[in-house]
Amino acid sequence: MRRKLAAGNWKMNGTKAALAELDAMAEAAKGDAEVLICPPATLVDAACGKGVLIGGQDCHAEASGAHTGDISAAMLKDAGATHVILGHSERRMDHDEHDEHVRAKCKAAWDAGLVVVLCCGESLAQREAQNTLDIIGGQLAGSIPDGATGHSLVVAYEPIWAIGTGKVPTMDQIGEVHDFIRSRLEKRFGEGVGRSVRLLYGGSVKPSNAAEIFAVSNVDGALVGGASLKAADFVPIIDALNASA
Ligand code: PEP
Repeated sequence: MRRKLAAGNWKMNGTKAALAELDAMAEAAKGDAEVLICPPATLVDAACGKGVLIGGQDCHAEASGAHTGDISAAMLKDAGATHVILGHSERRMDHDEHDEHVRAKCKAAWDAGLVVVLCCGESLAQREAQNTLDIIGGQLAGSIPDGATGHSLVVAYEPIWAIGTGKVPTMDQIGEVHDFIRSRLEKRFGEGVGRSVRLLYGGSVKPSNAAEIFAVSNVDGALVGGASLKAADFVPIIDALNASA
C-alpha cells in the first residue's frame, strides 16, 4: 500500500507570517494522506513542529564547503526537514542543472537521511514532437542513483508547460506517463521497490481539478505550487486526496 502524499512547493514565496497557513493544513493532515510543505530555506526551521512534514526545495551535492549561498542536505535535516525536492524544472532551467547534478544531489540527500521528491517532466516542444516518454525515461535513468527504495524516493511528474500556467494534461496523458514511470521503476529496481515508490502529479493542480487527477491510475498524490500557498486552496486538495480511493 502506498500512502498518499500532498506536497506543497512554496518556491520563493513566504516570510514568517505565511507560517500561519500551516495551522489549517495541519488539521487536514490528520487524515490518511501525508502532507508535506517545502517552504523557502529561511522558513524550514520555524515551520517544523507545526503538524505537517517539512522539506527543502534543493540541496548541494556536497556535505559542506566553499559554496556561498548553498545549503547541504545535512543542514536541511538538522533544521528538521524530512524531505527535499530535487530536479525541479525551475532549478534545471534557472541553474542549468542536468541529470548528473540531480543524481549527485540525490545521493547527498539519501546520505543525510532525507526523502527525495525527484521531479521530471517534458517541455511543450518535446510533447509536441511526441518525445515525452523518451524525455521522462532519460530523466529517470540519469537523475535517480542506484539503491532507490519506496522509503527514500518519491517521483513527481511535472510537465513544464503545465507549471503555473493553468494548463493541465488530459487524464489519459497523465495516466500514460505515470504508468510509464511505474514500469521503468519496476524494471530498474524490481517489482517490489518499483511498486512502492509514490508517484505525484504536478502542474496547475487546484481544488477544482484535484479529485479527477487523483482518480488516475498510479497517481499517489500531487506536488502543488501556487495552490499550496494558502490553506483555503491547499486544504480542499488534501481533502480530495483523503477522499480518493
Ligand atoms: C510546481 O512548480 O511544482 C508546480 C506544480 O506549480 P503549480 O502548481 O503552480 O503549477
